[in-house]
Amino acid sequence: MGEGVAEEAGPPGTGLTVHRVWWAAGAGVVAWTAYAWGAQCTLPAVAWRRGPRGRRRVALTFDDGPDPEATPRLLRLLAARDIRATFFLIGERAARYPDVTRAIADAGHEVGNHTWRHRNAWLLTPATASREITVGARILGDILGQPPRLFRPPWGIVNAASLATVRRLGLVTVLWSIQHEGLRPRTPAAQLRHVSDHLHDGAIIDLHDAPGLPGAPDRLLATMPALLDAIEHRDYTAVPVGELLELSSSPG
Ligand SMILES: [Zn+2]
Repeated sequence: MGEGVAEEAGPPGTGLTVHRVWWAAGAGVVAWTAYAWGAQCTLPAVAWRRGPRGRRRVALTFDDGPDPEATPRLLRLLAARDIRATFFLIGERAARYPDVTRAIADAGHEVGNHTWRHRNAWLLTPATASREITVGARILGDILGQPPRLFRPPWGIVNAASLATVRRLGLVTVLWSIQHEGLRPRTPAAQLRHVSDHLHDGAIIDLHDAPGLPGAPDRLLATMPALLDAIEHRDYTAVPVGELLELSSSPG
């Protein structure tokens, strides 16, 4: 039933109530816009999307793990080429697979916080948004002996509370300049073509060694050898993102 009908048919005072509901809804939309979209608009000023040019370095970053099948296979592949990378881990998966989590760090890779449960920050209350980051950090800190200094928000989505938590914990927020696949799957050949076509000095390459998208780990593992070849043939060196960013300087 439309609001106009309720206003005409209701008892005296109903029209006023309907107006109050509309005002409250309007105020809610304004508050949410500031909380979510406003914070999102400030993200480029505080997050890294790429590293500096001039050193022919790129960073490989792997999200959403650890995965008990794919991550160990990926670690073997990276070890065979003596490449170190950055893994943005989901806390609840790290808690389920602590041995794989430790194996990542023991192999010399960098570990970052990808939140506790990989929720969309635009749909979270301030308390939950903050907890997603602090619990993720605590789980990784408990397993690895020190909490990560890097943070990657799921899908690059933040709100005012998550940004405040990042500031409070002194985390460095890292996004990406190239993705092997976005919200839709790409075949290994298409992933390779896309990353190769967009490869640039200082690139932060976003890859996924866990689902996420169904089948993402298998597609990634099929892509990786040729992708590492392409990076090498272009005379780039892959380093962990913390090294790429030389983290004493500020975001740009
Ligand atoms: Zn993710």
